[in-house]
Amino acid sequence: MLTVVDHPLLLRDLTILRDEATPHGLFRKTLSDASAILAYEAMRGLRLRRRDVQTPLEVTDGYDVAEEVVVVPILRAGLGMVDGFVRFVPEARIGHLGMQRDEATHQPIDYYANIPGGLDAAHVYVVDPMLATGGSAVAALDHLKALGATNLVFVCLVAAPQGVAHLHAFHPDVPVFTATVDRELDDHAYIRPGLGDAGDRTFGTGK
Ligand code: URA
Repeated sequence: MLTVVDHPLLLRDLTILRDEATPHGLFRKTLSDASAILAYEAMRGLRLRRRDVQTPLEVTDGYDVAEEVVVVPILRAGLGMVDGFVRFVPEARIGHLGMQRDEATHQPIDYYANIPGGLDAAHVYVVDPMLATGGSAVAALDHLKALGATNLVFVCLVAAPQGVAHLHAFHPDVPVFTATVDRELDDHAYIRPGLGDAGDRTFGTGK
């Protein structure tokens, strides 16, 4: 399932993020804000537990989140989305998965993993701003399923049609949320029109 989240503020934020003139501080803040909008939609599937809540006037129905939430950013650019997710669920655990793209082969190299236990009972949100070839996303989902995760959601900001197709081919059970599906991948596996290198633009590295 692919959901292109439809919200005017997300379109405004995406424009700021696409603009090459946006400095890294504003880019980082805007990525965090846009991620919160995506998180809000992606978390509609969370299960709740009913409980009584005492207002100043009477007892009424209340609800708690009934499942563990785990957010897994794919390093490094995924880090820029974590804050947007945990602002709604501060008790969420955060796992880290380091996937680096080999610039020659464009294949993901898994160089770091630190994932909380109890994934089998958790709702796991894998976040990466750019779903380009889908190679890192598929490798990340493979990794998390091997650790027992069954309830996974993938959330990105910009997706390429190839990335969505690749992810769905290998993980048809994993819903994907994005702000946009852009036109294409270029020969360097950059998304067009895209927003450039999300990691460099978030962290102020690169040129
Ligand atoms: N990663 C990025 O940061 N940007 C792209 O366009 C593709 C992959």
